[in-house]
Amino acid sequence: MDEPGVKAAEKAAAGRARSDARPASVRPARHAGRATPMIAQYIEIKAANPDSLLFYRMGDFYELFFEDAEVASRALGITLTSRGQHMGRDIPMCGVPVKAADEYLQRLIRLGHRVAVCEQLEDPAEARKRGAKSVVRRNVTRLVTAGTLTEDTLLDARRANYLAAVARAHGGEEWALAWLDISTGAFHLAKTTQAALDSDLARLDPSELLLSNALYEDTTLKPVWSGLRCALTPLSRESFESTTAERRLRDYFGVAALDAFGAFERAELAAAGAVIAYVELTQAGQRPTISPPRREREDAVLQIDPATRANLELTRTVRGEAEGSLVAAIDRTVTAAGARELAERLSGPLTDPAEIDSRLDAVAFFVDDERLREDLRARMRAAPDLARALSRLALGRGGPRDLAAIRDGLATARALAGLIGQAEGLAPLPAEISAATAALEAPDLVLAEALAAALGGELPLMARDGGFVRAGYREDLDGQRALRDESRKVIAGLQARYVEKTGVKSLKVRHNNVLGYFVDVTQNHGARLLAAPLNESFIHRQTLASAMRFTTVELGELEAKIAAAGERALGIELEIFEALREKVLAAADAVKAAAAALARLDVHSAFAELAVAERHVRPRIDRSLAFRIVAGRHPVVERALKRSGETFIANDCDLGPASYDDTEEGVERGRIWLVTGPNMAGKSTFLRQNALIAILAQTGAFVPAELAHIGIVDRLFSRVGAADDLARGRSTFMVEMVETAAILNQAGPRSLVILDEIGRGTATFDGLSIAWGTVEHLHEVNVARTLFATHFHELTSLAQRLKRIVNATMKVKEWGGDVVFLHEVVPGAADRSYGIQVAKLAGLPASVVARAKEVLAMLEEGEAARAGARLIDDLPLFSAAREPVARPDGRAQAVLDLIAETVPDELTPREALDLVYRIKLKLASDDGAD
Ligand code: ATP
Repeated sequence: MDEPGVKAAEKAAAGRARSDARPASVRPARHAGRATPMIAQYIEIKAANPDSLLFYRMGDFYELFFEDAEVASRALGITLTSRGQHMGRDIPMCGVPVKAADEYLQRLIRLGHRVAVCEQLEDPAEARKRGAKSVVRRNVTRLVTAGTLTEDTLLDARRANYLAAVARAHGGEEWALAWLDISTGAFHLAKTTQAALDSDLARLDPSELLLSNALYEDTTLKPVWSGLRCALTPLSRESFESTTAERRLRDYFGVAALDAFGAFERAELAAAGAVIAYVELTQAGQRPTISPPRREREDAVLQIDPATRANLELTRTVRGEAEGSLVAAIDRTVTAAGARELAERLSGPLTDPAEIDSRLDAVAFFVDDERLREDLRARMRAAPDLARALSRLALGRGGPRDLAAIRDGLATARALAGLIGQAEGLAPLPAEISAATAALEAPDLVLAEALAAALGGELPLMARDGGFVRAGYREDLDGQRALRDESRKVIAGLQARYVEKTGVKSLKVRHNNVLGYFVDVTQNHGARLLAAPLNESFIHRQTLASAMRFTTVELGELEAKIAAAGERALGIELEIFEALREKVLAAADAVKAAAAALARLDVHSAFAELAVAERHVRPRIDRSLAFRIVAGRHPVVERALKRSGETFIANDCDLGPASYDDTEEGVERGRIWLVTGPNMAGKSTFLRQNALIAILAQTGAFVPAELAHIGIVDRLFSRVGAADDLARGRSTFMVEMVETAAILNQAGPRSLVILDEIGRGTATFDGLSIAWGTVEHLHEVNVARTLFATHFHELTSLAQRLKRIVNATMKVKEWGGDVVFLHEVVPGAADRSYGIQVAKLAGLPASVVARAKEVLAMLEEGEAARAGARLIDDLPLFSAAREPVARPDGRAQAVLDLIAETVPDELTPREALDLVYRIKLKLASDDGAD
């Protein structure tokens, strides 16, 4: 197989499979010695990238060979064919057109593959100069992996795309995470622990996680890795070496010491170093504009474990959809960068009241100034994605449209700063907003002006397509363009001359990529041009079924002129592009700061918009233990009900006093709410809405309530709904117990715990017993603010004995034998379950409902109910709290009976004395007889 085989490759990729294509069992690297020069080159490059599918550039196609071809053809559903032979066997091959490569890349990445893109590094003509058998120089210019994408077509505009690394140091004492969004340059670092690893990773939700082989193989960590939805990339130990990492970071950020960024621990260095090393590897020397690593304070964010995060459906529903999630219900941002910022904030609510208040001040400012909010949002709506355009330019993947994005983004930034400046006269600006305004003004005006002066209106995607520099910007460019256009005009004029010369009225001068300009006549007129004297001017080039094509010396010369002028014009344009790109990169930090400020303003004003539209209020946040919500609502359920014209019933929740004081009897009453009520009455909704209100409040948003006072929650736990986790080999009940165990082992007084129906998936008494024990543990040991919904009505008796517990129930009304849910939470315990009524509502056959009623009646009257009641009475689960009640023996019973029969008011003193003697006598006898 040699180089000019490109055409054959095109044909093959266009779908002509050969039926004798056999999978090659050869391991390419072993046979490199006996291969054709091109295959030898392929094998060498593939050997250097064994874990990636190699996209090998051949003309207008990327070709895949050997096993790669088999894998890719299966994954992409494209034809597998073969090309040439190697070691006596056909070489399997498939290909994708370069123009459509992004789409194929996206599909391969989604399926978990990595792709090494191998480009031609010289013109094939250059290669031919070295000899007929020479191969075009090629090399890998980029590794495309899930965590290192930058193209808009490959990315979700409204989500960050993190490449994360986890590192362990000091024999497991130190853990750290580093995460980078290469598409915006945002780079973060945080310490973590083995226990918090899964929560932290669930929050970051990276697209790709780098880890050392040792961590990857560690059996205790397998459950963490298998719970992740992202690509896992194990790397050698050297990639995580902390001293090399330090040097690598210093080099990358061009600093002599890292102290300016913070005093990093070894695990932090290792994680950050691994990220940078991987960027250098995958970008093949191109340098994205990464911001210096920002270190997250320990405990800076509300910890939410993966199960809770999934259950509360913060960014996607349990079914994996965006619609129906909290984000979908509350996101009013108008830019993609704003949407990314909002999703990120919601994933990591804060724990510092001052920081939260600062965000709330900004939201309040926009709530109060409706005019500014609307003007700002209208102006922002058209703002391009500055950060992602900048990143593409830095990586050499940007085009004229990215330059235009910077131009327009900077113009928006200025305009926003102007609008806020006008408002400043009316009210003092909150700190968040004045900081954002300063950042909006940071980029140099000269840059925006330079871009505006150079770029034209219609812009191509790629700089090499040309035509993006405005006319009048550079004289020499205008000159070359005029030359090119002039020649084109001359060619257009030629057609008329040739018609006259040949007498063929239908003669046309046309253009295509293969022949260039040519004279086109129908087949029957062709003969005239082939014959003398016309054959002196018209040179035959091609005969088609219905047409004949000719060229002329004149056309050839003009074409050469056009090509030369076009090439020179393009050269000038590329030079201008490069100069502008460098200008932009020189201002990268300021541009990034402006982009971040824009995103923040979008979020603040979007929260304000939401607050006004949905009647949300500013929460009061402090370091107390209060959790007091008046008329709280569930933002997602409320939205769904509104769509069908129904009203959401608001409910209060007050989880005890603001301070923690265990010494005064009863002072903490209400820390735990036991919520009972029938199915469908709204228990789950009530539980979740309170968790969501806490999350929103600590995110810095207003909340769906009339009043909210929340003492910072440091960890949020939930055990709601039940889903099998068969992938991890756990049944529904097992999942429930694992999650409950995690809560009981970790929740503290600052936590908020939401427990929905513990102990459902097992036998009734087992379930009740587990629920019982769980409540006691929460009450005595965790002392967390807790909402506990249950169907076990027996649990409500705990409220009499355990001082922190109060009972709450969902109000229902019975109406003609059916049950009506009022969705109102009121004090007290539910009297019955109404399970059968709910089943009837669900459409269970009438015969089944009737039979169930009979069975229930029997159970309620019969032995089973009594046995159950006795068992509950006898439950030894909380023996410490139970009053010991001794069973009276026969003598004591006789005495008691005697006393019961006596009417004290009717006794004379003498009779009373007699009674005492009789009592003594009864106690002295064996059986209580007189
Ligand atoms: P189950 O015990 O079967 O899980 P549940 O008591 O937890 O039921 P939810 O799932 O919370 O009940 O609510 C059932 C439905 O009732 C919701 O889908 C919603 O349509 C409606 N609902 C719940 N709360 C309210 C409310 N406060 N106002 C109006 N409708 C509500």
